[in-house]
Amino acid sequence: MRPLPRSLALLLAGALAATALSGCGKKAQKPAAEAGVLNLYTARHYDADLQIYEAFTAQTGIRINRLEMRPDQMIERMKAEGEASPADVILMADAGALWRAQQAGLLQPVRSQVLGARIPPALRDPENRWFGFSRRARVIAYDKASVRPEEIATYEALATPRFKGGVCVRSSDNVYNLSLMAALIERWGRDKALQWAKGVVANMARPPQGGDVDQVKAIAAGACKVALTNSYYFLRLARSEDAADKGVVAKVALGFPSLAGQGTHVNVSGGGVAAHAPNRAAAVKFLEFLSTDQTQAIFADANNEFPAVEGVEPPPAVKAVAGFKADPMPVATYGRRQAEAQAVFDEAGWR
Ligand code: FE
Repeated sequence: MRPLPRSLALLLAGALAATALSGCGKKAQKPAAEAGVLNLYTARHYDADLQIYEAFTAQTGIRINRLEMRPDQMIERMKAEGEASPADVILMADAGALWRAQQAGLLQPVRSQVLGARIPPALRDPENRWFGFSRRARVIAYDKASVRPEEIATYEALATPRFKGGVCVRSSDNVYNLSLMAALIERWGRDKALQWAKGVVANMARPPQGGDVDQVKAIAAGACKVALTNSYYFLRLARSEDAADKGVVAKVALGFPSLAGQGTHVNVSGGGVAAHAPNRAAAVKFLEFLSTDQTQAIFADANNEFPAVEGVEPPPAVKAVAGFKADPMPVATYGRRQAEAQAVFDEAGWR
């Protein structure tokens, strides 16, 4: 996910707000909640989610009106819409992005016994403005022919001379990287995190470009030896029937590095109820639906994420790697340290 240039995002948001307010000389009217319709703003970019929406509609009769946007685009749009926003639920693909929405005042606290019981405290906002519904690990993909798994047992490895000219990674303004850096700062302190970032920049095989899948494919193409990726992108390739994808997975494997002995960095995708949701009851119902065993299994089966709810069995290919030790750090940490994380990347020259 790359944010739009700020000027363009603001322009878009302004145009949308103007459209929303046009035609009435008085104060913006809050849109009446259309019974049986849930307005969803989502920054998740996975086809698999359609299965979830269909299952929700089948079970509740509530139709989902979906708008897909990048996180910064969504935040600017909702700020511009203000109280007139039609959004009921917002979904983000990273705890850092959820935190940004929360900081912008776009979410409201939800009191739900179901969510309180099903979503572990470390995977949600302490004030219940957002909840993680699926987990993803940010891990190291490596070239099987030239790298041994024990060589990438820690995140530190990426910054060592062993991988000089061998690291592929996406840009630093990507929220997945920002959340990882936030976790590194939390565990190591700023100085060590900065030295690490400088070491990674020195090891880069090429300037940051593309998304996580592009990094994994670059390893297979011989452009680099190791790369950072979210786990589900690799697992998607591993379960693909496509010949080219099979070729990639024949050459690349996934390692689960440990952070300060605590385990692998884990993030969430999740969501919350919009601050001015016209259809609040349906919004809470939808969030609760995301925590059911049925939906948790879809996150795992259709998008290769790890369930947030304990006791839900993922499909074999996901289960095969799901036994890694996960860092128990509360994901709310990633938001708190996001500005610091970007400053560290900037200082290290990580574009
Ligand atoms: Fe993603």
